[in-house]
Amino acid sequence: MTFLEVKDLHVSIDGKEILSGLNLKVEKGEVHAIMGPNGSGKSTLANAILGHPKYNVESGDILVKGESILDLPTDQRARKGIFLGFQYPTEISGVGYSHFLRNAYNTLNKEDKTREVFLTVREFHEYVKKNLDAVGLDKSFLGRYLNEGFSGGEKKRSEVMQMLVLKPNIAILDEPDSGLDIDAVKAVAEAINKLIETGAGVIVITHYARILRYLTKLDHVHVVAKGKVIKSGGKELSEELEAKGYGWLGIEDDK
Ligand code: ADP
Ligand code: MG
Ligand code: MG
Repeated sequence: MTFLEVKDLHVSIDGKEILSGLNLKVEKGEVHAIMGPNGSGKSTLANAILGHPKYNVESGDILVKGESILDLPTDQRARKGIFLGFQYPTEISGVGYSHFLRNAYNTLNKEDKTREVFLTVREFHEYVKKNLDAVGLDKSFLGRYLNEGFSGGEKKRSEVMQMLVLKPNIAILDEPDSGLDIDAVKAVAEAINKLIETGAGVIVITHYARILRYLTKLDHVHVVAKGKVIKSGGKELSEELEAKGYGWLGIEDDK
């Protein structure tokens, strides 16, 4: 059974239709890219999947393993292992990094008996350190406050690291490459590769083929325009978009 299925989804914000019949299926272990002009509804899709209250589902469905999640609040959707990261990483002042992560980890693990047992503070720190190493961040991160004073690239790698710790079934990354220079994009892509290695399903929303080139796996590329998936293909579709823009598909990029 499909892990995540978005079925003929119609979503409105403040009475205005933003998604107009969007379809998408993502299995655990698959890597999908979603591209498309600004304002086409990519972030709306991400927020609707997580159940952000501003985004009203008018019709259609979002299913996890065949069961609708539309009636579940965001935290219960997260407990099904669906995580949304990026676009505007927040600084949560005064929330210790390690404290924040341990709480999130324990909340998830208490719920799901298939996950590994509760870790003590010390065991948890060892576990987080391994994941810091994996994304190339320094151990001093554990003693810092969440996102405070991190560089753009560090913030984004730290978000991927949080996902590695929490072990999502599906990770939705909304423009993890935005505002980063080439070296930072590469570092973030390498961190995403670690996430892919865990067998998570990954949805990367991006404007550029650049970050996708560094991924070890890319199964499907979708173009979203005017609230729908208008074309799907493989990696070559992202290269075609990078080379030709969106005009050949009969849509404009208004960025
Ligand atoms: P994308 O991520 O593809 O750039 P979005 O999903 O952010 O597109 O936006 C799609 C449309 O929905 C845009 O016209 C945008 O102005 C509108 N929109 C998105 N989020 C909100 C919001 N929170 N409040 C009002 N309008 C919004
Ligand atoms: Mg955008
Ligand atoms: Mg967006």
